[in-house]
Amino acid sequence: MNTLLEGKTGIIFGVANKRSIAWGCAKSLAQAGMRLAFTYVDERLEKSVRDLVAEIPGSLVLPCDVTKPEEIDEVFETVREEFGYLDTVVHAIAFAKRDELQGDFFNTTKDGYMLAHEVSAYSLTAISRRALPLMEGREGSIVTLTYLGSERVVPNYNVMGIAKAALEASVRYLAADLGPRGIRVNAISAGPIRTLAASGVKDFADMTSHIADIAPLRRNVTSEEVGDCCLFLCGPHSRGITGTTIFVDAGFHIMGG
Ligand code: NAP
Repeated sequence: MNTLLEGKTGIIFGVANKRSIAWGCAKSLAQAGMRLAFTYVDERLEKSVRDLVAEIPGSLVLPCDVTKPEEIDEVFETVREEFGYLDTVVHAIAFAKRDELQGDFFNTTKDGYMLAHEVSAYSLTAISRRALPLMEGREGSIVTLTYLGSERVVPNYNVMGIAKAALEASVRYLAADLGPRGIRVNAISAGPIRTLAASGVKDFADMTSHIADIAPLRRNVTSEEVGDCCLFLCGPHSRGITGTTIFVDAGFHIMGG
């Protein structure tokens, strides 16, 4: 435990289980002394999230399905009552229909397209707007999670790649809006990590072994490595950085083939 973020508070959206990237972020922030609130999407995940979060005493655990605006309102009302202010938001949420994470992209349905964008991209804006009154003027930081499929064609990533492109553009617009109010907004582009969400992408295991073969570091990354980048982006050492995407992918994104 260190004291880098002592006295700071944060909220983390997207812990499903101990493999979640959001959990990697939570561990890094908690070890630096930040007090945390967590959300879970529905009753299905409540117990596993509560059991996990018990490892970080003093944390809040709240329900929030980001397709329900009243639940997002409720989360920030509770955080205002319990914490009084907020320094950090970690947005690690994504969803697309499983049958649209395989095959031809042109078969994406309108419903599937809208759902992927609502959960995976629009939710960052919906959350940031509600976080603003609690974060304004505190040199706060908002961090989201993205993937290389936003800028390159990655087989089977399909509609999620389009949603991640929208998410990364949202980061830039939010950074421009919120910078004058003392809030930075950045994305981490993580290499593939075996999580619940990743298991929905067809042939995910093939992708990880390809990366281990050709990435400069000749391996995949862990959620702890992403968590430590999140710690950097939420702490004072990144105070000059906003509106950007940082890759935590063992260098894979620089390779030509
Ligand atoms: P994860 O553990 O499955 O986390 C995704 C979370 O999003 C889950 O808690 C999921 O809940 C939640 N979610 C889905 N729909 C939601 C909704 N309507 N409202 C609120 N929460 C909702 O997977 P992860 O891989 O750590 O994903 C975290 C982020 O990292 C995502 O943005 C993902 O795209 C990104 N990312 C992942 C990888 C990777 O290889 N794993 C690489 C780069 C970026 P449910 O389980 O109920 O759906």
